[in-house]
Amino acid sequence: MRRLLPLLLAGLLMQGCSGQEDASAGHGETLLVAHRIHTSDPSRPQASAMVWDAQGRILAVGSAEDLWTAWPDAELMDLGDAVVVPGLIDSHGHLLNYGFSLMSADLAGARSKEEVVQRLQAFAADLPEGAWLQGRGWDQNLWPEREFPSAADLDAAFPDRPVWLVRVDGHAGWGNSEALRLAQEADGAPSLSGDWQPEGGRIERADGEPTGVFVGGAARALVERAIPERDDALREEALSRALTAAVSVGLTGVHDMGVSRADLALMRKFADEGRLPLRIAAYAAGDGDAFADLCESGPYTHEGGRLWMHGIKLFADGALGSRGAALKEEYSDDPGNHGLLAREPEAYEAILRRARDCGVQVTTHAIGDRGNRMVLDAYANVLGDGASGSDHRWRIEHAQIVSPEDIPRFFALDVIASMQPTHATSDMGWAGDRVGEERLAGAYAWRSMQDAGVRLALGSDFPVESADPRLGLYAAVTRQDRDGQPPGGWLPEQRLTAAEALEGFTAGSAYATRSEDQVGRLAPGLRADFVVLAEDPLQVPAAQLDELTVLSTWVDGRAVYSAD
Ligand SMILES: [Zn+2]
Repeated sequence: MRRLLPLLLAGLLMQGCSGQEDASAGHGETLLVAHRIHTSDPSRPQASAMVWDAQGRILAVGSAEDLWTAWPDAELMDLGDAVVVPGLIDSHGHLLNYGFSLMSADLAGARSKEEVVQRLQAFAADLPEGAWLQGRGWDQNLWPEREFPSAADLDAAFPDRPVWLVRVDGHAGWGNSEALRLAQEADGAPSLSGDWQPEGGRIERADGEPTGVFVGGAARALVERAIPERDDALREEALSRALTAAVSVGLTGVHDMGVSRADLALMRKFADEGRLPLRIAAYAAGDGDAFADLCESGPYTHEGGRLWMHGIKLFADGALGSRGAALKEEYSDDPGNHGLLAREPEAYEAILRRARDCGVQVTTHAIGDRGNRMVLDAYANVLGDGASGSDHRWRIEHAQIVSPEDIPRFFALDVIASMQPTHATSDMGWAGDRVGEERLAGAYAWRSMQDAGVRLALGSDFPVESADPRLGLYAAVTRQDRDGQPPGGWLPEQRLTAAEALEGFTAGSAYATRSEDQVGRLAPGLRADFVVLAEDPLQVPAAQLDELTVLSTWVDGRAVYSAD
């Protein structure tokens, strides 16, 4: 067979991604032949060939011989030994923040405060004098003392430059004294000293003075209001970087959680200009302006099929690492602390009712068992007894610590569990400290969810975790860190099979945005969104899932990334 892949890639990569005017292939149909195609389609799980039309719509999936006979004029793309899987869709990410994280100091995995300062010093060398030095990814649980840091830890290295560092979970921030000074001087700023606390947040203090750590969005905002706004050029640069990075790891879709009106406008600009190499299901920040637009104008879909906003994303509580997740009982390692609900159940339910009445899909961040129960109760109240029959597609993001008796309620209410396998392997070193042995029974419990009939949508929560879905597949199947620890996996009874994990990143994600008739599987009538891998993810040992080789990524039948 002819080997046309390099030629096709060279031609296709250079064109826009709208898929509208593909005359380059002459007749417009492309026939792909590979060692194996995993389709995620139960009626034909495996195939060796696939043909799609000039618009990137799959015409047939089957054997090379049959399709070659039926489409003799199609351009042949022989992938040899390579394996094809449906395009991977991350069910929970933050593209703009990911882009900004690619533009700020990476503190993930730093083993001490000293290492944090060293990384910052290296990064700051390229910054204009006096500009805010921003970073993200620090985690005090990786440091010997395992305690929150303070402003003083940064002041010696950065006496004049403001420094603001977001914790790995995205919920807590850590500033130096200069950052605190600027925050205190900002227009209308309340005093950071004293014993008051912002609603839904916590200023860490010693003797009434802020130590430099601010937990929760409301507390973080007290400092972040002093940071100069990012201008349009910077935001455009961030989105562009994030998209390029995402397709290079095999992502063909992202559910972007918490999008503002301005974010959507930027994404729309990219879509209009043919600069969206993947599909974005944007979820409006539930307390922001985009929700109002959704209710007024109804769900938004860009005509190119690469961008839509049909739902909102709300918060029920905070994160486990900084003890903001709402627990029914106190934290095992912080007596008296039950975490924080983001808002009272009544206020939360009022938002749900408005969303329901506007025909808007809802998803809610819930980490703790109290947060998850509050959401399930509210969904039940608002959706009523007919919840399971109404095809509402409401979801819960993270569903991290769930009381075992609440797991069947996800199924009964038809609530989608949007979970992030790498959260488990990042948190496993300390999650038991936070919640104790007993509550681990419902912790990061993908298998229990799956066995209870709950629909899973898998993702990463990038940039909290890596955007690389190979790491998600690996974590889902092994429940080990990348060094293979602990042996056998953490809470190994919750492992998924590779096929289930792949399903969660493809068909499961597609279902969670009601796009299963477009993407998530490889079947006639769906879009030709797929990834070409050098190895077969369903054949390699689980320990090698994080090292799969992404050869190319395709959306609407066109290459949006190629390794060469
Ligand atoms: Zn998130």
